[in-house]
Amino acid sequence: MYLFMLEKYNGRNSRFTCPSCKQTNQFTRYIDTITGEYLADHVGICNRANNCGYHYSPKQYFNDNPDAPRREKLPEKRPDNYKKIISKKGEEGSIFSKVPASILDNSITNYNGNHFVTYLNTIFQPEVVQHLLNLYQIGTYYIYGSTYTIFWQIDVGNNVRTGKLISYNPQTGHRNKHKPTNWIHAVHPELKSANTFNLKQCLFGEHILSADSSTPVALVESEKTAVIAIGKLPCYLWLATGSLHEFKQSKLEILLGRRVVAFPDLGAYDRWQQKASTFSFKVDISNYLEIHATDEQRKEGLDIADFL
Ligand SMILES: [Zn+2]
Repeated sequence: MYLFMLEKYNGRNSRFTCPSCKQTNQFTRYIDTITGEYLADHVGICNRANNCGYHYSPKQYFNDNPDAPRREKLPEKRPDNYKKIISKKGEEGSIFSKVPASILDNSITNYNGNHFVTYLNTIFQPEVVQHLLNLYQIGTYYIYGSTYTIFWQIDVGNNVRTGKLISYNPQTGHRNKHKPTNWIHAVHPELKSANTFNLKQCLFGEHILSADSSTPVALVESEKTAVIAIGKLPCYLWLATGSLHEFKQSKLEILLGRRVVAFPDLGAYDRWQQKASTFSFKVDISNYLEIHATDEQRKEGLDIADFL
């Protein structure tokens, strides 16, 4: 699935010369909503509907040019060092602690009291919400007098590394700032009493990679954003780093051989770009939000889910 839209007006430079009537600054081009890139320069619509009427849609364009690249093609074969990196990850496997599956299983309950689920229900049809909850194994946990949403970190080997507990406002879907984020390995009686938990985080959503080796990956910072975005744009596997700090090479090596696009929150583009430039593999950083946000949206630091 690819989504294209007409470029929003952003000054005269966002309007081009019409290929039909040749009037300057009258032609609106289509852009790829994911990458923020233009389609071919004659795909668009002339603003002079009555005097010109030129409109060449993305659909027509791909019908007429079936071989045109929709996006950068995925690498045909994985890089040579792919196996090595995977096995390195496997060796690490022996030294991280795992959360017993029973703790995760017991959390898959009480969605009525889970404010994030309540919020999802305001955006999606019930069957979509159910699909999202199953896909990411979202859980519910009651502690310190409040109900938290658990975002489990399950790796490609299906090991549960930990779970992040976040409290939400059910109406706005915003994080409840009065309730600090907690971690299951730090609060669950069985895990914290042992005091030997060896935490090694993985990407949120990593487990969904194992069933699908070809779909491109979209990376965002927050778990909530990943869940909402996959409901809206399932053409990507949406994964979350959990924080800017966790956007790092060691955590992303598991994505080697895939096309990866990161969507930083508004205002974070430069920092993500800077970090990505230090990686030994390519991660595209989308500037879609930076290009399309209003000043007000920028102030709020919105993320891609707010735009979808
Ligand atoms: Zn025209």
